[in-house]
Amino acid sequence: MTVPTIALNSGYDIPQLGYGVFKVDAAETERRVLEAFEAGYRHIDTAAIYGNEEGVGRAIAASGLPRDELFITTKLWNDRQAGDEPKKAIDESLGKLGVDFVDLYLVHWPTPQRGTFVHAWQQLVSFREQGLARSIGVSNFLIPHLEAIGRASDVVPAVNQIELHPAYQQRELTDWCLERGITIEAWGPLGQGKYPLLEEPVIVAAAAAHGKTAAQLVLRWHIQQGRIVFPKSTNPARIRENIDIFDFELTAEEMAEISALELPDGAGRVSSHPLEVN
Ligand code: NAD
Repeated sequence: MTVPTIALNSGYDIPQLGYGVFKVDAAETERRVLEAFEAGYRHIDTAAIYGNEEGVGRAIAASGLPRDELFITTKLWNDRQAGDEPKKAIDESLGKLGVDFVDLYLVHWPTPQRGTFVHAWQQLVSFREQGLARSIGVSNFLIPHLEAIGRASDVVPAVNQIELHPAYQQRELTDWCLERGITIEAWGPLGQGKYPLLEEPVIVAAAAAHGKTAAQLVLRWHIQQGRIVFPKSTNPARIRENIDIFDFELTAEEMAEISALELPDGAGRVSSHPLEVN
């Protein structure tokens, strides 16, 4: 299974589909990541707060895969944005992952009440210069947060990783990012299973037409819009299913029907709002 890549503004390529390990138990992470590698995934999305970087690291070591074939993302947690904490945090993450550098390091949330995300961003810029992270980006940043780091630094984030699925598409934010060369990573691409997305008639009908599952349909909808996704599953059959989306194409009509599932006024959001996480 060959996963297409997207060129980031850092000059590095990222596989458009990866395996996300949010809420994958530390004890089973190594096994699941190895299953993902076996299925053809080469991009893993973790975070310090997920508590499973060591399991990802064990899987990397056990896989025998060359480091340059892998794309590893991790994230700086909120309570480590200030002072010299970011450097300690990235060193801890690199140690747990057993790597000399990560491919992508993100500020996990802007946590606006702390007032430290601009400082954290400047630290990430230095990590890139030091070769600790090949690309750097942000997660859950809204336009004012992106503008604030833009005033303090010439380095444009490679990505903004945000909640995005058919019911909640954040179009103003995604358009703003794309106009400035910031690639969108969609977290919760399947709506975290929190609403009956996979039972939507238009999705079920299109899935049947293509001989695919509803989850594959939704992932394909993201891919055809140039987004990066890393669906999470601990079910080996679903891990394989979720990468098997590169042999069919949705029509323009099917794409529009799925896009029309957005709920008004942000009502489709299934997880935390960036202004509420501090
Ligand atoms: P998701 O949309 O990937 O949903 C995961 C759920 O979807 C699973 O628990 C399972 O119930 C279901 N599912 C997965 N594959 C399926 C299939 N083939 N058929 C039917 N159901 C299926 O949500 P997520 O895990 O929150 O998001 C994916 C990744 O995004 C995470 O693992 C993590 O890496 C990242 N993430 C980042 C943030 C952030 O703040 N930056 C927040 C949440 C998630």
